[in-house]
Parts: sequence; C-alpha cells; structure tokens
Amino acid sequence: MAMFPSQLLLSSKHLKEQILQPLFAPYGVELFVESGFDTDQYGTFCGTTPRMEGPRTTVKEKCLAGMTFANKRQGLASEGSFGPHPSSPFLSINEEWLVYIDLDQNLEIYGHSVSMDLCHQKLDYQSLQLNDFLNRIQFGAQGLLFKDASTGALIQKGITNEEQLQDLIKAYPQWVLETELRAHLNPKRQKNIAAAGKDLIARMHSKCPKCAQPDFSVSATSGQLPCSWCKRPTNSYAFLDYTCQSCGFAEKKMRPGQQTEDPQYCNYCNP
Ligand SMILES: [Zn+2]
Ligand SMILES: [Zn+2]
Repeated sequence: MAMFPSQLLLSSKHLKEQILQPLFAPYGVELFVESGFDTDQYGTFCGTTPRMEGPRTTVKEKCLAGMTFANKRQGLASEGSFGPHPSSPFLSINEEWLVYIDLDQNLEIYGHSVSMDLCHQKLDYQSLQLNDFLNRIQFGAQGLLFKDASTGALIQKGITNEEQLQDLIKAYPQWVLETELRAHLNPKRQKNIAAAGKDLIARMHSKCPKCAQPDFSVSATSGQLPCSWCKRPTNSYAFLDYTCQSCGFAEKKMRPGQQTEDPQYCNYCNP
C-alpha cells in the first residue's frame, strides 16, 4: 500500500504547515518546509507577480520545483485561487488545490476543495461602516491590505493591529482596505486548505481493487434514483462512478444512504 514518507517536504509559505500538520500527524508524517525556496515566483495575491497558469498546473510546477530545490523524491504543495463561481458569476469562490508527488511510487495525487464561505472584501474611505466592516471580517485573525485610493498604491500589507490601522488612516485620508488573501492572515481560507488536505489524504487511502494503487475516487455521478411514491426515475443521481487514476479501472457504487428520492423532487408527483 502506498504510504507517505515520515518526513514530507511541503513547498509553501505562509504557515500552511500549521494547517496541514494535524491532518498528517495520525499517519506518522511530519511536514517540513525548506527555507530559501521562494514560492512567490508562482504568483502572489497582491498582484506583484501574475499567475500564468491554472492552479492545478501551478501547484504541480511548484511541487516539482520544491522537490528539485530540496533534492527530494517526494513532495507536497498547496495553491489557492479566488474568482467568480463558474455558473453564478455574481458569487465568489475560493478554490484550494494540494498535490502529493512521489517519483519512486509514480504517484501524482490531487486534493481539492471549493468554498463559497470566504473573506474577500474591500472598503474605502467614503464608507461610514469601518467598525462594522472590521467586526464582520473578524479583523485581527483576518489581516488587511492598506492602499492609497488616489494612486492605488499598496502602502502596507499584513495589518492585524487596530493602532497600526488608525495611524495609516490618519496618514492617508483617502484609503482603501482589502482583506488579506494569504493563508496565514485569512482564517476562512485556512479552513478550506484543511478541507483540501482531507480530500488528498482520503484519496491516498482509497485503493484500486484492480491494481492496488491509491486515488480510486469518484469521477462522476450517473443513473436516476426512483421516486419513493410513483417509482418513476427522478433527476437525482443513483450511482457514484469510481475511476482509478493509475489503470483506468471503473466501478459504479450505489449512492450511499439513499435508494429512493422524495416525491417533492419528482417531475410526475410534483411537476
Ligand atoms: Zn487501478
Ligand atoms: Zn413520483
């Protein structure tokens, strides 16, 4: 069975090891970060280095570059993004990716989590709601960027202290505040990174019945649950379609915990 190494390289900054270590500890894994490896070359949130690729590609490149830098055969890396919801563009989502690469076992396993519970907000000097804003975002645990509204220039990042914020507001009366998106200053992002970590660990432990490699995981849903009243098919899925990421073996499993659908979702009983 595939296993993580007991010392596992994490190519990441912003204290992500503090979020992920508790998840890996039960498997006897200690995460470590190689100092001197600069992950900011893969893009930053304050816009100084644009991100060129999608997060899945970026996280893989970051992981491989970190492994080369640290001269390791195994590595873990994390990458997140914020953007519009693909089907409801007026909503925002935070997408977090983790990848585990093992060159000896030929593994490349992705953990993924999408959350709509996020902190990605702005406020400017024309607003009278500064205190409400600070309470709502839970300023302190949640950090802020301070910008000059007239030039758009970034004046200060990583602000978590009320006194520092008030001094900046006095010095720059035309201000813009933006919530920090870096993981160590954004508690909602920390929760989502942990969810991606749980997804990765679950995939690492789901073994293909044919080739025994990990990451035998749900790739789609299919079928139609019958209505519990009229027995006609509904639009609710009946099966989870598992696919092995190594050999391609596929298997349908019954949807867990549900064999029929409530008539309120039936096109015949409740048109
Ligand atoms: Zn397989
Ligand atoms: Zn029905």
